[in-house]
Amino acid sequence: MDQIDLFARELNSDFPGTGIFFGEPMSRHTTFRIGGTVSLYAEPKSIEAFVWAVREAKRLELAYLITGNGSNLLFSDKPHRLVVLSTARLDTLRANGDSIISGAGVLLSRLGSFALSESLTGLEFAHGIPGSLGGGIYMNAGAYGGELRDVVEAVTYLDGGGTLRTVANRDCGFDYRRSRFMDTGDAILSATLRLRPGDPKEIRAKMDDLSARRREKQPLNYPSAGSAFKRPKEGYAAAMIDGAGLKGLTVGMAQVSEKHAGFIINLGGATFEDVVKLMEQVKAGVFEKYGVELEPEVRIID
Ligand SMILES: Cc1cc2nc3c(=O)[nH]c(=O)nc-3n(C[C@H](O)[C@H](O)[C@H](O)COP(=O)(O)OP(=O)(O)OC[C@H]3O[C@@H](n4cnc5c(N)ncnc54)[C@H](O)[C@@H]3O)c2cc1C
Repeated sequence: MDQIDLFARELNSDFPGTGIFFGEPMSRHTTFRIGGTVSLYAEPKSIEAFVWAVREAKRLELAYLITGNGSNLLFSDKPHRLVVLSTARLDTLRANGDSIISGAGVLLSRLGSFALSESLTGLEFAHGIPGSLGGGIYMNAGAYGGELRDVVEAVTYLDGGGTLRTVANRDCGFDYRRSRFMDTGDAILSATLRLRPGDPKEIRAKMDDLSARRREKQPLNYPSAGSAFKRPKEGYAAAMIDGAGLKGLTVGMAQVSEKHAGFIINLGGATFEDVVKLMEQVKAGVFEKYGVELEPEVRIID
């Protein structure tokens, strides 16, 4: 029996009710709506099941990838011999005084609303980021002056040797759009966030204001992965792309958004090649005009 079939059969028998999909197109699980099939896509339904799945994938030497909400991923269109383990069902959420303890799969939008319902402030910046908590910690997601490192107290993860560990914020290796988890590939399972008591009216007003600013500035009516490039130390990627006259540049059905030059959008049916070629043209244009090397923010799985 193929190792992937064996893995799926074991996962299903030890943890009945796990969502298991063979030959699943990643275009269904990424906000870019681009991506070929993966051999197996699974949504383990508990931390126990998730831990088992990661340990077993390692034991069977299967190539695997952990995903959250797929909002920072660009998959190539070819079939991938890959097991995708989605954290979507690691979705437990509870408050404990000024802290929130959350599963890695909880969406940042839900976390923001939950914090509001508990009259806790500090997470308003994250409410509009369309990722999961695990994906947000992985890349220290941030917006409007806030970053996850400002609120994360501790992270529980499964290390490369299959041991469950908890690290404090200072040991997470947070930096601009970086954390230690990008280097280790460890599976983030849950985290404790430390917030502050706040006035629900003020929290809601801040969330509403940031949502309105996103709607006004970002092309939210098109599939994308948000900012295609990281902010270079010399300035803002979007301003440089705009300044190099690249707004609206189109390859196939991929386009540098007219509304926000930092976003590459899928006009409908864009291919992986379209996006990659467009990113190369953007990098070349910015380099020619400013001598700055843009680095992709989106994680490319080729
Ligand atoms: C419209 C739009 C707006 C956006 N705005 C912002 C913004 O303002 N600020 C910002 O920072 N980002 C923004 N993004 C990008 C994206 O939402 C963030 O990068 C988010 O943190 C990705 O989370 P995710 O759960 O979707 O991760 P995924 O895309 O599923 O995965 C991204 C990476 O994280 C890893 N990963 C995910 N979960 C785990 C886990 N539990 N354990 C270990 N590794 C994991 C994956 O392996 C992958 O390498 C935006 C995207 C879109 C589409």
